Amino acid sequence: MRDVIRSLLDLQEVDRDLHRVLEELKRLPAERAARQGEVNRLAAAVAEKKLAAKNVRVRIKEFEDVATAGRQRMRKLENDMSQARADAQLHAFFDHQIKTLKKEVSTAEDDGLKLLEQVELLDRDAADLQSKHDAELKVFEAFAANVALEVAAAEAKRAQLAAERAKRMKGDIAPEVLSDYERLLRSRGGVALAQLDGRQCQACFMDMPTNMTVRVARGSELVRCPSCDRILYTLQ
Ligand SMILES: [Zn+2]
Repeated sequence: MRDVIRSLLDLQEVDRDLHRVLEELKRLPAERAARQGEVNRLAAAVAEKKLAAKNVRVRIKEFEDVATAGRQRMRKLENDMSQARADAQLHAFFDHQIKTLKKEVSTAEDDGLKLLEQVELLDRDAADLQSKHDAELKVFEAFAANVALEVAAAEAKRAQLAAERAKRMKGDIAPEVLSDYERLLRSRGGVALAQLDGRQCQACFMDMPTNMTVRVARGSELVRCPSCDRILYTLQ
């Protein structure tokens, strides 16, 4: 079993670094995606404000059209009224129509003005969000360029470590031991073995019962730390 421990320790030297590199290769794209998400959210917020402003402008145009049409009809009625000067009843009819129209035009103008304030507010919000987005995008682009460099470096490191690992893999470790070891690497932050110093596990610092330290020292079987589950070894 001592030979297996030695082989595992040999692998562990590489696997600790390999685990770190693999974690890095997971973390970097995840971080980039999160930041990209932030930028996208801002872009969506800008688009939303712009769309809202556009819709309000459509309504403003509708009120303007109502006011324009009303003014045109008023002019025509004023003209008709001036020609109907003799007919008092008709005159009164036109006068009433014109007054009604005047009110309609005035209401449409007021409503349009209120919406104009609204659209100015939306335009300002959109511009603020846009400049925030542009600044964020700039930061993100610099970050993403950096991430690309870091990923490339990590990939190179990973290839180098994988080659080194393959060299150290001598085939003297039983498959079930190797798969236990690799599972521990993943669940224990890349460190599957722990040195037993005296009675203490040097990974989790728990004290072992004496019979366990004896079994580890004997080296005839693989002993796992009851606390952190790592494979225990002693330096001899
Ligand atoms: Zn432990």
